[in-house]
Amino acid sequence: MIQNPFDYVRATTLSEALAALAEFRREAKLLAGGHSLLPMMKLGLAEPSVVVDIRHLRDLDYIDDAADHVAVGALTAHRTVETSPLVQTSVPLLAHVAAHVGDEQVRARGTVGGAIAHGDGASDLCAAALALRATVVVEGPPGRRQIAIDDFFVGYLETALGPDEMIVELRVPKVPGAAWSFQKYRRRHLDWAIVGCAAVRDPDRGLGVGLVNMGSRPTRAVEVETADRRGADITEASDLVAAGCEPPSDLHASAEYRVELARVLVNRALDACRVA
Ligand SMILES: Cc1cc2nc3c(=O)[nH]c(=O)nc-3n(C[C@H](O)[C@H](O)[C@H](O)COP(=O)(O)OP(=O)(O)OC[C@H]3O[C@@H](n4cnc5c(N)ncnc54)[C@H](O)[C@@H]3O)c2cc1C
Repeated sequence: MIQNPFDYVRATTLSEALAALAEFRREAKLLAGGHSLLPMMKLGLAEPSVVVDIRHLRDLDYIDDAADHVAVGALTAHRTVETSPLVQTSVPLLAHVAAHVGDEQVRARGTVGGAIAHGDGASDLCAAALALRATVVVEGPPGRRQIAIDDFFVGYLETALGPDEMIVELRVPKVPGAAWSFQKYRRRHLDWAIVGCAAVRDPDRGLGVGLVNMGSRPTRAVEVETADRRGADITEASDLVAAGCEPPSDLHASAEYRVELARVLVNRALDACRVA
C-alpha cells in the first residue's frame, strides 16, 4: 500500500511532462512502466507529492535506424526491444538482455527510459548500456543534451539527470559483427541477477564489460577492459573484476561470494567473446 498521498498529472505531450517537471522539480516523479517507481513508493523509499504519468507519450515509443546507432525512445518497452529485428541484427546483445529482464509482464510494461533513469546497480539493461557505450539523450527547458553512459550513473539510484530533465532516447552504437555474451546468474528463471555480466567485443571499439549487482550503481569492469587491451589472457583479465567494485551483501549472497561469481561469469563471457 502506498502510504503517502500524491497528486496525479497525466501528461499527453513531452512539453506537458517537461512543464510539470519544471513546476514541481524534485517533488515530482515520472511514471513510465511503474515497475520500479511503484514498488519504491509502496516501500516508502520514494515519496513524490506529484506523479507525472508519461505512459501516453507514444512519440517516445520507437526504435529507429540512425546510421551508426540504433535510437530507442524512452517509452519503448523491453519487449519491443527484445523482438525488434533492427536491434536483433544491429545490437544483438541488447535484444538478448531485454529478453532476460524479469518476466513477460515486466517486459511488456517496463521501459528503457525507466530502467536507465532508475539507475539500479542490479539492472541488466544498465549493464548492457555500459558494455555497449550507449549515450543517453535528455531534454529539459534549455533543450536536449547528450550524456555518455559512463557519466550518467553517479550514485545509489542517482543519475546525472537534472530535476527538470527527462530521458527521451537511448542511443546504442551498432555492432552487428561483434562477439557478445550475457551471463546472468540467478536462483530461479525469472529472478533478478545475483550477479550478471554483459560483454561485447567489437573490432573497432574493443571490449566493453558491464556488471550487474556488483555495486551501488551500474558498474563497468574497468580493470578487466584495461587488462584485455594490454593483451592479458582471459584468466588474468577476469581475476581483476573486483577492482573498483563494491558488491552488496544481502539475503541472496555475500559480497565475497559475488566477487567470486563475477570472476567466473566474466571469464565465461570473455571466453564467448574470443572471436570478434
Ligand atoms: C517483478 C519485477 C522483476 C524485475 N526483474 C528485473 C530484472 O530481472 N532485470 C532488470 O534489469 N530489471 C528488472 N525489473 C525492473 C524493470 O526492468 C523496470 O521496468 C525498470 O527498471 C523500470 O522501468 P519502468 O518503465 O517500469 O520505470 P518506472 O518504474 O516508471 O520509473 C522508474 C524511475 O525512473 C524515472 N523515469 C521513468 N521514465 C523516465 C524518463 N523517461 N526520464 C526520466 N526519468 C524517468 C521514474 O520517475 C522513476 O524514478 C523488474 C521489475 C519487477 C517489478
